[in-house]
Amino acid sequence: MFDQLPAYADDPILGLFEVYKADPRPFKVNLGIGIYCDEAGQVPVLESVRAAREAGVGARGPSVYLPTEGGEAYRDAVRELVFGKNADDIVVVQTVAGTGALKVGADFLKGVLPDAAIWMPDPTWANHAAIFAGAGFRVENYPYYAKETGGFDLDGAVSALQKLQAGSVVLLHPCCHNPTGVDPTQAEWHALLDVIEQRGLLPFFDVAYQGFAHGVDEDAWAVRECVRRGIACLVASSFSKIFSLYGERVGALGVHAPKADKARLLGQLKLAIRRSYSCPPALGAALVEAVLSSPASNAQWRAELDAMRGRMREVRTSLHRKLGEALPGRDFGFLVAQNGMFSYSGLSAAQIEALRSRFGVYVVSSGRICVAGLNASNISHVCEALAEVCS
Ligand code: PMP
Repeated sequence: MFDQLPAYADDPILGLFEVYKADPRPFKVNLGIGIYCDEAGQVPVLESVRAAREAGVGARGPSVYLPTEGGEAYRDAVRELVFGKNADDIVVVQTVAGTGALKVGADFLKGVLPDAAIWMPDPTWANHAAIFAGAGFRVENYPYYAKETGGFDLDGAVSALQKLQAGSVVLLHPCCHNPTGVDPTQAEWHALLDVIEQRGLLPFFDVAYQGFAHGVDEDAWAVRECVRRGIACLVASSFSKIFSLYGERVGALGVHAPKADKARLLGQLKLAIRRSYSCPPALGAALVEAVLSSPASNAQWRAELDAMRGRMREVRTSLHRKLGEALPGRDFGFLVAQNGMFSYSGLSAAQIEALRSRFGVYVVSSGRICVAGLNASNISHVCEALAEVCS
């Protein structure tokens, strides 16, 4: 019965992480997996989160099941974080991190729009296609990244969206596009939302890095503008990176459906969760809820987020300067123009292989570099390696 199982090709990013871990070279540098590391090269424990933990949040009492949709205080805190104040008509459910939010949203939508296709930016996070195909969607791409300019292909995206059938789902990254780091400007967002509105399309926002581009509220701008226009949309949120709680699996799905009966909408989301994993995990959500709902902890967390963002900007500036010195005449402006943890380098497969085998510098096969893996002690090695393989 099980003798013809196909081999699992392994996730390209997680697979590379395993190879990195097994590499004995002391100077190895991991620019593959999307994990934010601090200046010491460590995954940080945020002070705001540590304080909540030390105050005993999540540590007391028996471990009971959470409600299917998550606790009310958590859902309220997340609603305000993502959608701002006065967003009471948005239905938010807790999910198993960002991936779980995408999966619950996909399963829910498949029930409502059984024949709809989903259109994703080209390129996008590889798991997007897997999640939606797994939920039974036809997965298509719209142009996003313009190779010639290293920027956003607004014309390509708009003309592709203009041709879509009403009710088509459109996946969007409101900030820190993964893998390119290229984000639309506000004017470009207006142009995208205009087409979405005119064509009756359904945006599905994936927000995995809120606060890593310009700030918590600034990075939610596209989502909030979509809601302000009265456009129905779904929003998947991940708190893995912005609370540095990767293993706790904390996230949420928000649904803005102005004409829907809210109790029924919540009921359908609960159904999608119940038959998938029944109810979400408790500890991480308790920590996020505690941090967000105390004004002092919330302010402390925002300051920590500002510091993470600032460090990534500094790393980008420093990489830009050092590479400019090592390879004069080449334009590395994209490094400082892009947002968030990722930079699309344009490195070839042979260059990526040489980086790994000769210099122990790990970059995923798309050429995406995680700049949050760089720090003062490894950046010179990485620049020398890059200069060597690029010259
Ligand atoms: N969406 C995007 C764009 C991501 O980059 C990631 C993490 N790599 C996720 C969703 C999922 O994050 P998680 O499930 O760890 O919260």
